[in-house]
Amino acid sequence: MEYRSMDKIGEKVSLLGFGCMRFPKDEQGEIDEVLTEKMLDEALKCGVNYIDTAYLYHNRTSEDALGKLLKKYDRSSYKLATKLPDWILDSKEEAQKILEEQLSKLQTDYIDFYLLHALDARRWEHIKKLELVSLCRQWQREGKIRHLGFSFHDGYEVFEEIIKAEDWDFCQIQLNYMDTDFQAGERGYRLTEELGIPLIVMEPIRGGMLVNLPKDLAERFHQVDKEASLASWALRWAASHSNVKVILSGMSSYENVLDNLNTFKEYKPLGEEEAAAVRDVQKELLNRVKSRCTGCGYCMPCPFGVNIPENFQFYNACSLFDDARSRRLYYGMGKTQSTACRECGKCEKACPQHIKIREELKNVTDFFQPEEGC
Ligand code: SF4
Ligand code: SF4
Repeated sequence: MEYRSMDKIGEKVSLLGFGCMRFPKDEQGEIDEVLTEKMLDEALKCGVNYIDTAYLYHNRTSEDALGKLLKKYDRSSYKLATKLPDWILDSKEEAQKILEEQLSKLQTDYIDFYLLHALDARRWEHIKKLELVSLCRQWQREGKIRHLGFSFHDGYEVFEEIIKAEDWDFCQIQLNYMDTDFQAGERGYRLTEELGIPLIVMEPIRGGMLVNLPKDLAERFHQVDKEASLASWALRWAASHSNVKVILSGMSSYENVLDNLNTFKEYKPLGEEEAAAVRDVQKELLNRVKSRCTGCGYCMPCPFGVNIPENFQFYNACSLFDDARSRRLYYGMGKTQSTACRECGKCEKACPQHIKIREELKNVTDFFQPEEGC
């Protein structure tokens, strides 16, 4: 297993981190604890020492399951990360209750890496108003959390504001070869490097999309290496950034675990020919992007109920990838589909990307006509 040092906080972490948002489920839709245990055991046996969950994952049951499954391990043999969802609370007292609940569910006295969850401009304002950072610092002094950071989903400018506002121990952003220019993106990566803040990466395979490439693009990778899995290309691309200390993979099957472990067992940086293949695939993917919507949500809510970012998300997913699931999800949106737009124009005033939303929503409607699309 490849390990990296977080010099700022004196930690040595496995480059592959176990993300606990996509545990396998049983027929009742509950976490399949038998299979999850097998997956976690294999990962820990092979040297994974960073495990990332959140209060809200799996309808608030991910922490419970982890607490049970990790009990047999020496607490010092792994680093536990979990997150505080500020948007479900309105006071420091409520935050305190959530932390106590997390410690109890995880059956531990301390959290190694504690994150303010999924920050964006609006949540950051809320956190400042409730003074949650100072509360987290108090928890640090009390030994309940060891390192404080945040995970992030918004544009670069907001990222810069947040990361420079505090002396964070670490932070976590979405980074993959498709999204180099999306959210914090590579510019955000460079800023973490400049500031010396260790970085944890999430969505390295873009929620599974980069393992579901159109055939011609998958072929581009296979020309270079017939054996390598599509996931391994994405993971190695993320790992090629030296300030990326942990790459979280939300593993949902035993096969995922084995494949990822194989990538990091004897991690090899991308060679020149390989890096060129990634650039080609990236370029082609970006050519096929239909909408440059970043999903920031500033245009929401729509007075007529259109879920604007979700429409664009499925539009892109369906046009970029062989993604029947996105097509099904789009049709499942019902009243929040593009067809509900009444062209009032309210949303366009708020869009920082200056997207002609009304026009693009019409394109979405056309695209998803039964005879069109992917
Ligand atoms: S233009 Fe359409 S999508 Fe935008 S706010 Fe008005 S109804 Fe909603
Ligand atoms: S349409 Fe514009 S404002 Fe709405 S989510 Fe996309 S980028 Fe953000």
